[in-house]
Amino acid sequence: MNKILTIIGARPQFIKASVVSQAIAKTSGLQEVLVHTGQHFDANMSTVFFSELGMKPPAQQLGIHGGGHGEMTGRMLIAIERVLQSEKPDAVLVYGDTNSTLAGALAAAKLRIPVAHVEAGLRSFNMAMPEEINRILTDRMSHWLFTPTDTARAHLENEGSPPHRIATVGDVMYDVALHHGAQVQAEGRILGQRGIQPRSYVLATVHRAENTDNPHRLATVVAALEMVAAQYPVVWPMHPRTRAILGRSGQLESLSRNIHLIDPVGYLDMVQLEKFAALIATDSGGVQKEAFFYRVPCVTLRDETEWTELVEAGWNRLAPPLSSGPVSAVMLQAIGTQGADIRPYGIGDSAARIAQRLGADLCS
Ligand code: UDP
Repeated sequence: MNKILTIIGARPQFIKASVVSQAIAKTSGLQEVLVHTGQHFDANMSTVFFSELGMKPPAQQLGIHGGGHGEMTGRMLIAIERVLQSEKPDAVLVYGDTNSTLAGALAAAKLRIPVAHVEAGLRSFNMAMPEEINRILTDRMSHWLFTPTDTARAHLENEGSPPHRIATVGDVMYDVALHHGAQVQAEGRILGQRGIQPRSYVLATVHRAENTDNPHRLATVVAALEMVAAQYPVVWPMHPRTRAILGRSGQLESLSRNIHLIDPVGYLDMVQLEKFAALIATDSGGVQKEAFFYRVPCVTLRDETEWTELVEAGWNRLAPPLSSGPVSAVMLQAIGTQGADIRPYGIGDSAARIAQRLGADLCS
């Protein structure tokens, strides 16, 4: 048996791992040990995804969260190295671009354990983003580079990654959307509980440091959403970090009643909110793609995006939160639009392709 040790720690990683773990379990010759760093730890940021997406609980919980980037990554590095020394896996699997991703890849690379990176090759070309630093360093250390798109493959090739290490497998989040999201309907769930009419509202999510940690940008996002809320109710499942920052500055109390501020929701409620929105306004990577999976127009509250194909095809548009008038205008104009018929993220078999490749290479 070849042992794959998977490191996860943040909300989108639980979602991505749900399908890959199932595919690994079905691959003969492979076994998986799941390690949770603790980066996200609230029930609605972590546990809910394990129960909703049918995942086994992690074998180990490292309980590491908070502190600055260096402190968090450093503590994870120490703890993960210990786990790797005792578990002696044949490969380490990491996802995306968080501190858990970087710490897992670095601990493994230093112990000469080959690293598999799911969602390799994404680039914003903005090194001010902690995510960009994490993903570039992780790609550089990885033995297997599983890219979601041809664009991501091209970025890796341009940087000189050896082509035989790159496998364009499609996007695992598309697999999850097909697997779990397709069943979600407009009735019941959060829309029913809150009496929100399908297609009548704008769904907003905001969590990136470039927005939350910059008071002007965050105030611009709030002001733009308020302008939109005069015409369409805004449903905003608020990330704990955003809530803490808006709470400290007193901006939470002054939000109008047309902004439905709710706690982060589980995956299935989120799918319902996405699928039946008139528009999604977000700075999340995953939510931009899910908007497209459900053919809902999207506005990205950032200066750039890694998922450029969606902007090119007209499903998404960038609205850097610099001035509220133009941002709200982009949002209102996007409602009711559709983009071109593109299929950049594979056919929903990405997890199986990842497991097959790992099985073939490790068991040969
Ligand atoms: N998500 C969720 N509940 C929420 C907000 C987001 O289940 O309240 C899901 C969303 O559907 C997507 C993922 O979390 O699958 C995106 O994670 P996030 O926005 O935290 O990170 P990013 O994708 O930007 O790395």
